[in-house]
Amino acid sequence: MKLGFIGLGNMGSPMARNLIKAGHELTVFDLSKEALDQLRTAGASIAQSPAEVASAANVEVVITMLPASQHVRSVYLGQGGIFGSVSQDVLLIDCSTIDPQTAREVAKAALEKGNPMLDAPVSGGTGGAESGTLTFMVGGTKKNFEYAQPLLSQMGKNIVYCGNSGNGQVAKVANNMLLGISMIATAEAMSLGVSLGMDPKVLAGIINTSSGRCWSSEIYNPYPDVVESAPASRGYKGGFGVDLMLKDLGLATEAAKFAKEPVVLGAVAQQLYQLFSSQGNGQLDFSAIIKLHKN
Ligand code: NAD
Repeated sequence: MKLGFIGLGNMGSPMARNLIKAGHELTVFDLSKEALDQLRTAGASIAQSPAEVASAANVEVVITMLPASQHVRSVYLGQGGIFGSVSQDVLLIDCSTIDPQTAREVAKAALEKGNPMLDAPVSGGTGGAESGTLTFMVGGTKKNFEYAQPLLSQMGKNIVYCGNSGNGQVAKVANNMLLGISMIATAEAMSLGVSLGMDPKVLAGIINTSSGRCWSSEIYNPYPDVVESAPASRGYKGGFGVDLMLKDLGLATEAAKFAKEPVVLGAVAQQLYQLFSSQGNGQLDFSAIIKLHKN
């Protein structure tokens, strides 16, 4: 297929390269010259703006992978943006993690222009983007989902239909809010147990065969040297950064305000990650939040 790809950062660059490897012809754009040079070397054609990507000859699908809502608005709706030049019927897929309201507004604007649109945020991190094993949570019509599924499968392993426009973002935000909370709860329980005299590995073993078990305790335990493959066992380097978790908790609390839904623990979690980030820890893996405890 002839594809457009905008946003070639830590996630977008390996995703775009996987599409080139799968045999697609890509026209790409990013604000970073370095990112563009890398994609040119990988075989992509370079455009000078989002509008130029969207109007590339015979382009069938345009994918975006941008930092946040304001970038998505600007790339789609702004001057030199996609909506200024895109032909009718070109499918637009936004894989950025943004708030569900913005996703719905942009999709509505797309529909008014005659373009189908899907929101398709991912989980799986940069490792999943490199290996093509991301999970895509997709919102939009079933028909457009079915059309996009084979393409998304070349960048991911689990492609999940979540329902109407914006629902991909809803699923992502709800899951990551729970993850942020469960990591803090695991850190608190592990720290309490160890400071009262338990061996961390024995304690984790008990939790993981008891009712406290969760992904944060079992796969990604925040206590060092409990799970060999977890970032806690390599100085909290790599993994999912505190600032990325903070961004997702911000989206969750904003979405909750919009829905008039209390998210008490989500809001507390957001403040704890904010405190931890303000102490200079924004780039550490989010499980490092255990450092707020004394051990
Ligand atoms: P990143 O900051 O590495 O990359 C974003 C890219 O977008 C950059 O190359 C930047 O130059 C480009 N960009 C910004 N504004 C632009 C514009 N107006 N036109 C063209 N390009 C523009 O971010 P990332 O880590 O690749 O994350 C992208 C999205 O994926 C975010 O929404 C993030 O929340 C989400 N996400 C990230 C991870 C992760 O582990 N990094 C995991 C899941 C989801």
